[in-house]
Amino acid sequence: MGIIEAMRLDGKCGFVTGGARGIGKCTATGFAEAGADVAIVDLDFETAEKTAAEIAEATGRKVIAIKCDCTDPDQVAAMVQEVVEKLGRLDFCHANAGICINAPAEEMTYEQWLKVLNINLNGVFLTDIEAGKYMLAHGGGSIINTASMSAHIVNVPQPQCAYNASKAGVIQLTKSLAIEWAKRGVRVNSISPGYIGTDLTLSSPHLQPLIAKWNEMAPLGRLGKPEELESICVYLAGDTSTFTTGSDFIIDGAFTCF
Ligand code: NAD
Repeated sequence: MGIIEAMRLDGKCGFVTGGARGIGKCTATGFAEAGADVAIVDLDFETAEKTAAEIAEATGRKVIAIKCDCTDPDQVAAMVQEVVEKLGRLDFCHANAGICINAPAEEMTYEQWLKVLNINLNGVFLTDIEAGKYMLAHGGGSIINTASMSAHIVNVPQPQCAYNASKAGVIQLTKSLAIEWAKRGVRVNSISPGYIGTDLTLSSPHLQPLIAKWNEMAPLGRLGKPEELESICVYLAGDTSTFTTGSDFIIDGAFTCF
């Protein structure tokens, strides 16, 4: 079998949190295009349903929508159960749901800090643990977490200490789980995107005005497109990446190189 054939995900099933739009929608599309059945997991069920229908129509795969708040342990456990009931198995997942709140550290409320940490780090922990428990008991699997280049650098000019700390936590969580589960067939990796043109950046009244400044700073002179993250996630979900675990993939158009 050639390498491109070997990278396909035929017969595999997985889910994407924050899959209704943006980066998660694109990776879910990539997984389905590669042959997998996929669950779109999101707090925003209406958009998740539309996205699931769109991807199913475009790819011919089974694509379902599941409403879930990734910060709620019971909902996350029920979501993994529903994925297995409706798709039949769980081979991979992309723990991707996340938010950004910008505020100078000394003005940030504790509620704002907790909200960012809760979704970006605790939500990934809960998702990984529930998916991991199933995978450990059923012969293995692949978990992909969305971190950020903000785990590696302090972005400027916007003040976003909670976001940066949460994403650094995602990378150490990823490496810790990779070590704990290495000999039991569950691989855990993360992606660290640079600035990507999604609703998170393009529609945020705090972030949108900064885009021109970021583009000036960016070696490629532009934001990334969410589609530019699809292939790495398809690779990580499949069987050509079996020696890849505990790794973080920075995909930032060289933004963090200097
Ligand atoms: P987005 O805002 O376009 O999409 C995020 C999705 O997550 C939304 O559909 C939202 O409803 C969902 N969501 C939010 N809270 C949730 C919760 N508690 N439970 C379930 N779903 C929830 O964002 P995006 O740009 O696609 O970002 C996706 C991920 O990539 C985030 O973790 C983000 O931090 C990260 N990231 C984004 C960029 C960027 O520039 N856009 C860069 C690096 C990393």
